[in-house]
Amino acid sequence: MRMHTSQHLMSGLVFRIYAARTVGNQIHADFSRVDFQPANFTPDDLKRIEEECNAVVDAGVDVRIFEEDRVVVQNKVEDRSLLDLIPQSIRRLRVIEIGPADYCPCGGTHLKNTKEIGRIRILEKRSKGKETDRISYELEPA
Ligand SMILES: [Zn+2]
Repeated sequence: MRMHTSQHLMSGLVFRIYAARTVGNQIHADFSRVDFQPANFTPDDLKRIEEECNAVVDAGVDVRIFEEDRVVVQNKVEDRSLLDLIPQSIRRLRVIEIGPADYCPCGGTHLKNTKEIGRIRILEKRSKGKETDRISYELEPA
């Protein structure tokens, strides 16, 4: 849950700052990887992503989970590709919101507050082909 919630946070923030979409992720108990596109992060970018994530952790933002009409979600989500994966017949969506950092349809389980994530430490980034960067990170104990 800590890793999954931290991935929401990072994906949401990176989309807002760099307009890079999350195109893949692997969540492990001890570290995670998230693939972003289009992306070509510099060391300064990685530092900024880490700082922005940890600012939200330190702020102790409540993680809200609620149901919303599909049309409402469609108008709020900037990355429409997420919604294309959900069958059209589903008209009510379960949404997770982390303050202004993330708003995203998701059926998973999440923490109640970003404080529970613990601090995020980016380990490295690797280029995974054209305009795609993979960020690996770990969490310090909450
Ligand atoms: Zn989720």
